Amino acid sequence: MKHPYLNDDHEIFRQSLRKFLEKEAYPFYEQWEEERLIPRNLWTKMGEQGFLCPDLDEKYGGSGVDWGFSVVINEELERVGSGLVGIGLHSDIVVPYINAFGTDEQKQRWLPRCVTGELISAIAMTEPGTGSDLANIKTTARLDGNHYILNGQKTFITNGIQSDLILVACKTDPNAVPKHKGVSLLIVERNTPGFSRGRKLNKVGLH
Ligand SMILES: Cc1cc2nc3c(=O)[nH]c(=O)nc-3n(C[C@H](O)[C@H](O)[C@H](O)COP(=O)(O)OP(=O)(O)OC[C@H]3O[C@@H](n4cnc5c(N)ncnc54)[C@H](O)[C@@H]3O)c2cc1C
Repeated sequence: MKHPYLNDDHEIFRQSLRKFLEKEAYPFYEQWEEERLIPRNLWTKMGEQGFLCPDLDEKYGGSGVDWGFSVVINEELERVGSGLVGIGLHSDIVVPYINAFGTDEQKQRWLPRCVTGELISAIAMTEPGTGSDLANIKTTARLDGNHYILNGQKTFITNGIQSDLILVACKTDPNAVPKHKGVSLLIVERNTPGFSRGRKLNKVGLH
């Protein structure tokens, strides 16, 4: 598909990404599907080549380029297979939240490693009992001194099994009216006490 906002620079970028994926992804994709896991070294190799979070500011390691580069990346990943969708989710959904709403300290701490692929991110909204009706999530976060006590369960989380940084949708005000006003996003790091991961689900379709 030809997009009006893609120019020659995007096409040159597309060719170099496609070449990279022909070497680093196409030959292994079937195996990854079987294992239901994309290896971490694909992430770091993509990071080395500037294929993660390209629109982020250079001060965080990004290339500061326009959104068209993300479109190219997602199109080329999809050509390999939908199993790579979590890479776009990292670059174009989770990291932009941190970039837009994080403090300077949080951005310094996480964004450079999101760009290199050392940190894999996820967003955890869905729960065993709540999907579309997000305002009805049951996960709560209660402020206790200078930190939150977060309680709840999440499911169907893209990148969930590998993620290092999880943006968790939770209720900080369970009595808010309307309900969605009580929803907040907290970041949970991989080794946060009390955090545990379930098993890798055996799903039909996208693993
Ligand atoms: C491949 C994949 C990746 C995912 N990745 C993530 C992720 O990274 N993070 C995350 O948080 N979640 C993720 N999810 C979960 C996804 O967000 C939920 O599946 C989605 O929100 C729908 O919720 P549900 O499956 O519980 O369906 P439900 O909300 O129970 O909906 C079931 C059906 O009822 C319909 N329906 C629901 N409410 C209404 C209504 N009020 N009126 C009419 N029809 C209605 C829906 O359209 C749907 O057809 C992923 C799901 C898939 C399949």
